[in-house]
Amino acid sequence: MKLWDLIIIGTGPSGLFCGYNTALSGKSTLILEKNLQFGKKLLIAGQGKCNLTHNGDIKSFLTKFGDNGKFLKQSLNNFNPQNLKDWFESLGLPLVLLEETGKYFPSTMSSQDVLKVMIDSCKKAGVIFKNNTCVLSTTKINGKNEDETLNSGYFKVITTNDNEVFYAQNIVVATGGMTYPQTGTTGDGYKFAKKLGHSIVTPSPCLTPIFVDNYSFAEISGISVAKVKIGLFRENILIKENRGDILFTHHNLSGPGIIDFSRYVKKNDVLKINFVNLEPNEFFLLFQNYSNLNGAHSVKTFLYSLLLPKRLIQKILFIHKLDENRKIAEINKSERKIILSLSDYPFTVTRVGDINIAMATSGGVCLQEINPKTMESKLCKNLYFVGEVLDIDGDTGGYNIQAGFSTGYTASLNISKIKNS
Ligand SMILES: Cc1cc2nc3c(=O)[nH]c(=O)nc-3n(C[C@H](O)[C@H](O)[C@H](O)COP(=O)(O)OP(=O)(O)OC[C@H]3O[C@@H](n4cnc5c(N)ncnc54)[C@H](O)[C@@H]3O)c2cc1C
Repeated sequence: MKLWDLIIIGTGPSGLFCGYNTALSGKSTLILEKNLQFGKKLLIAGQGKCNLTHNGDIKSFLTKFGDNGKFLKQSLNNFNPQNLKDWFESLGLPLVLLEETGKYFPSTMSSQDVLKVMIDSCKKAGVIFKNNTCVLSTTKINGKNEDETLNSGYFKVITTNDNEVFYAQNIVVATGGMTYPQTGTTGDGYKFAKKLGHSIVTPSPCLTPIFVDNYSFAEISGISVAKVKIGLFRENILIKENRGDILFTHHNLSGPGIIDFSRYVKKNDVLKINFVNLEPNEFFLLFQNYSNLNGAHSVKTFLYSLLLPKRLIQKILFIHKLDENRKIAEINKSERKIILSLSDYPFTVTRVGDINIAMATSGGVCLQEINPKTMESKLCKNLYFVGEVLDIDGDTGGYNIQAGFSTGYTASLNISKIKNS
């Protein structure tokens, strides 16, 4: 019977990078993956181009993970975006920065290349892989194992392959979240965590489009507006603001500004979108001045001067049955209200996109039970959680993959130090 120093469950970025670094230190490392294909989610990241990390300092990085960002501070100090860039460059795959978005991609714009570098590095470092191997359960041996060869403290990992069993001194759960289940991430890690005594913060889809009541913008799907201010109102109280690009799709609102917000949004919340880049009172004054000076101009002449997509303006006028050729001097109070609504255009949320289309999972293994300096469980020695299985989720832009690398690296630092027994 082989006793592994480390078994990692999952071949996402966190599991692979943890495996690579631990194997480099000489520890016997086995990675189990339920799919035939390794790193399935990594392959579709960034629409197959793989946005690996983001520009900016660690302080601003941490703000992109909602309230739980501070948990990642130590991990990001251990392995920061510059370290990630250097690592890929040293292996012949430099990253390039897209200035306008701050996102880093591999120079070849191919997630296949990213995965290849990672798998090749792991194999070179001595990692053993087993694909098509779905882990069913992980338990800690208490007393002796069945054939009395092991004492307390080791982990027993049972897989679906005829209940094949593996034993290890350390376990890293790198099973990701529960969204995009077709990539293998079906929330199994939460089950393992619970069985080993952990609490789970209820997982829910995030980084996902938002569905709104009476959506009437299907005809302009594909139209986007850059850097609009989005206010989130619950029972008429502003609870959060964000600025980002929004995209009208066939069925919902999307784009980075919207999907980054999805982790906070609940049914019946109201999103107020400021299309005009002016505060409502400033927009009111602008309109007031314009109508004083140009009363004979048409509504469309004023609205087109705002440099918004024409089809968006036309759509909003159509929805509210406002004739674009009306003279500004002649419009009534309710027509004026429609024009002014462009600075806080309301959408009532019906739901966020479900697990099949959400790019990440909010919630997961409770952070209070994990040591942020090592990623080790505070409840169960030699058990580690890395990547998205934890209750961390970042905005779009490369934050989640970077978090996977940083937490995977941090766990490996600790496991590499553990004396073999
Ligand atoms: C469409 C899409 C695009 C994205 N684009 C980006 C992007 O450009 N940049 C970015 O930063 N983030 C992006 N993300 C998010 C990012 O891909 C994830 O946050 C990241 O992959 C999580 O890494 P991980 O290591 O935690 O696990 P994952 O990459 O989720 O991998 C977990 C692995 O564990 C395996 N596994 C699960 N259960 C078991 C089990 N019981 N036994 C064996 N194996 C198991 C799964 O099959 C899977 O391969 C995107 C996500 C999606 C869905």
